[in-house]
Amino acid sequence: MSQKVEKLDGFEGPGFLATSLDKAVGLARKNSLWPLPFATSCCGIEFMATMASTYDLGRFGAERLSFSPRQADLLMVMGTISKKMGPVLRQVYEQMAEPKWVLAVGACATTGGIFDTYSVLQGIDRIIPVDVYVPGCPPRPEQILDGVLKIQELVQNESRRRRESPEYLELLASYGIE
Ligand code: SF4
Repeated sequence: MSQKVEKLDGFEGPGFLATSLDKAVGLARKNSLWPLPFATSCCGIEFMATMASTYDLGRFGAERLSFSPRQADLLMVMGTISKKMGPVLRQVYEQMAEPKWVLAVGACATTGGIFDTYSVLQGIDRIIPVDVYVPGCPPRPEQILDGVLKIQELVQNESRRRRESPEYLELLASYGIE
């Protein structure tokens, strides 16, 4: 069953609704996310289940996966990221156009997980900013869906000007991203 899209707040009458542009854009963006699945290991299998018929990420308007960073706005990182893979992940992030969001799925993407070793990145937030973390090893599809819902909340409530704000530019600068 599809998720119902809630009605926008605003001033309404017969045949019209007046609302703010931020709210209209937020609603449209929230319900048309294009995820880029960056899956390197077992958590990727849980993502496959999340896309399949039982859990069906398409109910939330996010079934159009993109394997091109330039046509994606939600980077979903699922799996162990080795230090050698780090620069590749960062390049993918940098190639995505603004506005973009990042979901770290599972213990490995979030903290390195059980791989506390010299070759594994101890969390992707060491190289790119993360918006939402999903715990678990592996997280169940319900948890991945919950993470996507949390991203949707952020997307809906984000001001269109946030990406130009000094705070956001400072955040990117702290990662050495221009
Ligand atoms: S968090 Fe667990 S299930 Fe997910 S990639 Fe790491 S080891 Fe595999």
